[in-house]
Amino acid sequence: MRALIVDDSRAMRLLMGRLLANLDIAVVEVGNGREALDVMESAGPFDLALVDWNMPVMDGLAFVLEVRQDRRFDEMAIMMVTTESEEAQVQRAISAGASEYLMKPFSPQLFAQKLENLGLAIR
Ligand SMILES: [Mg+2]
Repeated sequence: MRALIVDDSRAMRLLMGRLLANLDIAVVEVGNGREALDVMESAGPFDLALVDWNMPVMDGLAFVLEVRQDRRFDEMAIMMVTTESEEAQVQRAISAGASEYLMKPFSPQLFAQKLENLGLAIR
């Protein structure tokens, strides 16, 4: 199991990285959607991407739209992890192809629950 963290906040990357490490999930971190696409190109598909909405260069929504046009990444679950909490925003992300939505701030319990919702094989 391999996850890609896409967030311009180093603190958030650290936090999510720790939570995933506790679940024995290997992690690669990047700071925006463009870097994420580059890593996916060079390192192959990930099982899961945890994606911030507001980022420089390429934001989370643009990233999701781009990824969902590429059949190679059909199997990758995408969870938006963001402070954008309006229902309309959530719907936009889901319509774009996000699999799950998690609002910041969140508890480790909710984080784990959302991963379970995705049906990912977590020990
Ligand atoms: Mg951000």
